[in-house]
Amino acid sequence: MQMFSTRGAQAVTPSMAILRGLAPDGGLYVPAEFPEFTREEILAMVPMSYQERALAVLSRFLPDFTREELEQAIAGAYGTGFDCEAVAPMERVGSWAHALELWHGPTLAFKDMALQLLPYLLTLSGKKNGEEREVFILVATSGDTGKAALEGFLDVPGTRCCVFYPKDGVSQAQRLQMVTTGGANTHVIAVEGNFDDAQTGVKRIFSDPAFAEAMDAQGRVLSSANSINFGRLVPQVVYYFSAYADLLAEGAIEMGDKVNFCVPTGNFGDILAADYAGKAGLPVGRLICASNENNVLTDFIATGVYDISGRPFYKTISPSMDILISSNLERLLFDLGGCDGEKTAALMAQLKAEGRYQVDADMLRKLQARYAAGYVDENGIRAEIARTWREDHYLMDTHTAVASAVLRAYIEKTGDRTPSVIVSTASPYKFGAAVLEAVAGETACGGKDDFACCEALSALTGTKEPAQIAQLPAMPVRHTAVCKKDEMAQAVLNAVK
Ligand SMILES: *Cc1c(COP(=O)(O)O)cnc(C)c1O
Repeated sequence: MQMFSTRGAQAVTPSMAILRGLAPDGGLYVPAEFPEFTREEILAMVPMSYQERALAVLSRFLPDFTREELEQAIAGAYGTGFDCEAVAPMERVGSWAHALELWHGPTLAFKDMALQLLPYLLTLSGKKNGEEREVFILVATSGDTGKAALEGFLDVPGTRCCVFYPKDGVSQAQRLQMVTTGGANTHVIAVEGNFDDAQTGVKRIFSDPAFAEAMDAQGRVLSSANSINFGRLVPQVVYYFSAYADLLAEGAIEMGDKVNFCVPTGNFGDILAADYAGKAGLPVGRLICASNENNVLTDFIATGVYDISGRPFYKTISPSMDILISSNLERLLFDLGGCDGEKTAALMAQLKAEGRYQVDADMLRKLQARYAAGYVDENGIRAEIARTWREDHYLMDTHTAVASAVLRAYIEKTGDRTPSVIVSTASPYKFGAAVLEAVAGETACGGKDDFACCEALSALTGTKEPAQIAQLPAMPVRHTAVCKKDEMAQAVLNAVK
């Protein structure tokens, strides 16, 4: 199997696509063709463990990796770091939906599903392509991705991971999660600036030939764990197959029945993985794209116009979805446009120049045949958390609540009775203060820090606070470096000396 660039560059193998991250023409790598899973193959997944299901799916998407390589990578990724054997368990939400819980990994959010496996895929890809240098991952984070990357790369041989975060721009719990990270190959540096400063600094380092030379002299090569890497997308296809197999096992559906997935969306990676599962033969019904007040995708799916010009940027209680430019959407555009690299490149150039583009009638028809969309505001998120807790005794985080509210509205409006799955992307304890406020009212949080809110949430709901949160305040701080925003490159070199 070969991988195309969405902007037309020469096709490469999956391992090369993973090693490169971005194609040389600035495009994203996509499979030139999709594997075709038969009904028998999907049925065979029912008695399998998550790890076996992962092997069944990944071996078909990554044919230049051996079964043995993948088996070892999967065992390393989805082992003791997860707090339940099912890895990605399905829970009932009352009688009206299921929740696919993707937050049982080390950092309590869905990024772990991909970032636990990516380091293995990256180092294997390096070996296959004659790259002998240590892979040096640089990340700028607004909170969650940094910790997930650190945990993923922690002590993986042949890799090193350095994360920059805005000194005063992350929550108390997020900062502690990062600066208490162990391992001999992790670095965490605070930047005196905001997230944009950190991100701009990392981009500058990536395009600095002198820095690349300095790294090369140390036997290192720079790489990115960003969500545009195919190695982050492909592990996410697995859990849609796994969810379907679990619904079959439970008797909630029969083989061949369609299932709708409602996905809380930011960069469009998670929902695109569901689309890819459908293209590979999984009976996927409608993909419901759920947004918060940053609802550029809701408008795009309704009208075919993607427009960020003059659109305000809202900071919400579902911060991992506060995004205006969804980078993985480019992969969908390529598909809708009939795999025409020039067409995709023209749309992306227009977005850059004018802040907007419009897809043609044929693309819009294909888009709306597969996708539905909706959004919900801050009060709607709180109300949904309170309601599902009260009525269904299911406690959800702020991002999952966006999907739940949007799915509820979708069912009401369309009467679509297809079995539905809410993709649950974070533990409620990861956003404990907002969740506590939603179930117990504003005054419940008054003056409390994140940790006290989580304790109160546990006491109130009788749900268990994850050890990763409860233990944080007592853990030793291991990373104290701080740098100015124009001294980030030097800070990296100092850190690895
Ligand atoms: C990253 C993230 C999302 C958005 O996922 P995308 O793949 O970027 O669409 C949703 N919820 C949580 C908790 C996340 O961390």
